[in-house]
Amino acid sequence: MLSQNLISEVNTQIKYELYSAHLYIAMAAYCDYENLEGFANFFRVQAEEEKFHAIKFYNFLNQMGSRIIIYGLDEPENNFSSILDVFEKSLAHENFVTKRIYQLMDIASEEKEYATISLLKWFIDEQVEEENNFTGIIQKLKRINNDSASLYMLDKELGLRVFTPPTTTTQAQ
Ligand code: MG
Repeated sequence: MLSQNLISEVNTQIKYELYSAHLYIAMAAYCDYENLEGFANFFRVQAEEEKFHAIKFYNFLNQMGSRIIIYGLDEPENNFSSILDVFEKSLAHENFVTKRIYQLMDIASEEKEYATISLLKWFIDEQVEEENNFTGIIQKLKRINNDSASLYMLDKELGLRVFTPPTTTTQAQ
């Protein structure tokens, strides 16, 4: 049985993962409006990943016999000044999520809650990947600067992204 504190923190994390999906759909909408359909596709796929993260925590609480609570979501950022601004804001958001996962890991470690520690290890690896993805695109956008042919190529490349649920051997698939 998980402690009340851990159950409450994991429930809050479900909210943050769902909020991430919310935010990335808002970012997709901005990209679509700017005729950057590939970037929009990238963010819609990212939103799918975030919903997958939420359900992974959901399944974990369910398997542990804990009560899942779904909280309301705040309105996401809808104002962006450029595609670079979108990615800088998404990276800042992922940095925040990483800190949250570390806080959860601190609590689980203090409580010697090994099943939760195992789950969170998967999320820590996932966060490294997420931050790396966003950082890579920011670097490309900075190199592209305002060259529309290069931006078109990157948009095309991101249009190819498809959602594939990550395969995992951990208990909370
Ligand atoms: Mg996530």
